[in-house]
Amino acid sequence: MRYRFLAEAHRRPVWSEGAQEVTRSSLVGTSSTETVIVGGGLSGLWTAFWLTEYSPGVLVHIVEAERIGHGASGRNGGWLSSLLPVSLTDLSFSIGEDRTVAVQTTMFEAVNEVVDLCLRHSIDADVAHGGSVSLIRGPAHEVRAQADIEDYRRFGFATHIAHLDRRHTAERVRVDNESVFRPDCAVIHPRRLVEALARLLEDRGVVIHENSRATSIGSGRVETPNGLLVANSVVDCREAYGARDSGRRVVPIQSSMIATEPLSPKIWERIGLFGREALSDYRRQIVYAQRTADDRLAFGGRGVGYSYGSRVRSSADFDDRVHSQLFESMVDLFPELRDTRITHRWGGPLGVPRDWTWTVDFDVHDRVGRMGGYVGDGVTSTYVAGRAMARLIMEGADDLALVGHRSPRWEPEPLRWIGINTANRLASMVDRQESAGRVGGVLSRVVDALIG
Ligand SMILES: Cc1cc2nc3c(=O)[nH]c(=O)nc-3n(C[C@H](O)[C@H](O)[C@H](O)COP(=O)(O)OP(=O)(O)OC[C@H]3O[C@@H](n4cnc5c(N)ncnc54)[C@H](O)[C@@H]3O)c2cc1C
Repeated sequence: MRYRFLAEAHRRPVWSEGAQEVTRSSLVGTSSTETVIVGGGLSGLWTAFWLTEYSPGVLVHIVEAERIGHGASGRNGGWLSSLLPVSLTDLSFSIGEDRTVAVQTTMFEAVNEVVDLCLRHSIDADVAHGGSVSLIRGPAHEVRAQADIEDYRRFGFATHIAHLDRRHTAERVRVDNESVFRPDCAVIHPRRLVEALARLLEDRGVVIHENSRATSIGSGRVETPNGLLVANSVVDCREAYGARDSGRRVVPIQSSMIATEPLSPKIWERIGLFGREALSDYRRQIVYAQRTADDRLAFGGRGVGYSYGSRVRSSADFDDRVHSQLFESMVDLFPELRDTRITHRWGGPLGVPRDWTWTVDFDVHDRVGRMGGYVGDGVTSTYVAGRAMARLIMEGADDLALVGHRSPRWEPEPLRWIGINTANRLASMVDRQESAGRVGGVLSRVVDALIG
């Protein structure tokens, strides 16, 4: 079925509505600075934030190919969560148990810190600290939910996760399911956060160049078509956009979103999310949602195919098939939204390392840093990673356990294309099987083997 909204919805993030946008000039000529940051997403902005926090007056330039927040940072689902993309058990296999506990503790604290920081700096990012609800919609979901709870318990985080029975779930979301509740999650308006951070940095003297694509990034210098920045330190914050230069450490994977028109109080009475809880469930092909401050439902998920050679294609932001599936998933959860108007649809690339574990890396000899690989959990991680990067630049060390983490390389093409796209298709098939009541089929294990 071809839905009308595919033709009628605005092809841009709902977050662009009412956002206070500023246009900044591009880099022209040659300048010297202490640190140049390539990429004006949250990685770059938080790195600049922490540099200026630790050393007021430090000279920092940011070069952004398009405009601030053009990438995932201005388009995401707005979950300011404490989630790491891998389970704690899996993370402990690569970095050890104590370090895993330390990273997760830092993530829990970071959610509160960003919420407080928004208050302290009068950043009006529509923050609501309502936790997250992951619905358990069948026996296969139950298995994954129990594994999550067990994972947190094993690492001493039992108070950070709770199994909610149907009654307690319905107090938050009007569905007839059990769920897993995590208190350490807020929702934010991504575009407002990015814009407010950029203005805060400019007040601190950071220079932001938009429409300034770095054509060469190396030790001590960054070139753009019309300019050159000479610097003591250089940080590459291109995330998914830098995948082709990452030596197969990261691949770009799309995430897609749709947003409804503002919904009436009567409809919200039937849906819930009274505390603006972030919402998802336990299917394989991830979906996520937030009730926005202006009472829309913004609903996202994955499913767009991976592009051969790790290319980022802007046409992938408007995948009719995936946007239709998102609409169907949303209506499946909330049938009262069947006739609701979808006003916006969009997508964006996120960076996925082979072991789904992000990194912050700074070479103290050539003074070039790289960070990213947050999969779909970068809103809080960028804050933590930016702080670590600032310390690495200023002091040459930081105790964050993911500093220097090296993911294994992704397979060369065409194996990479075959593997990722096969896993992508199988994940949707597993979801269909599981919604028919099957648990732990062969397909699910194949998906784990391909991407786990
Ligand atoms: C649709 C979607 C939903 C998501 N939902 C969530 C969520 O709810 N919660 C969560 O935690 N995470 C979410 N994520 C992931 C999260 O948004 C990202 O992990 C995070 O924003 C990454 O920030 P970044 O600054 O590292 O990268 P980006 O925001 O992608 O920034 C990279 C920037 O580099 C610029 N750039 C690229 N090449 C060059 C160049 N040569 N020169 C100069 N600049 C360049 C780009 O234009 C871009 O602005 C989502 C992602 C997407 C796409």
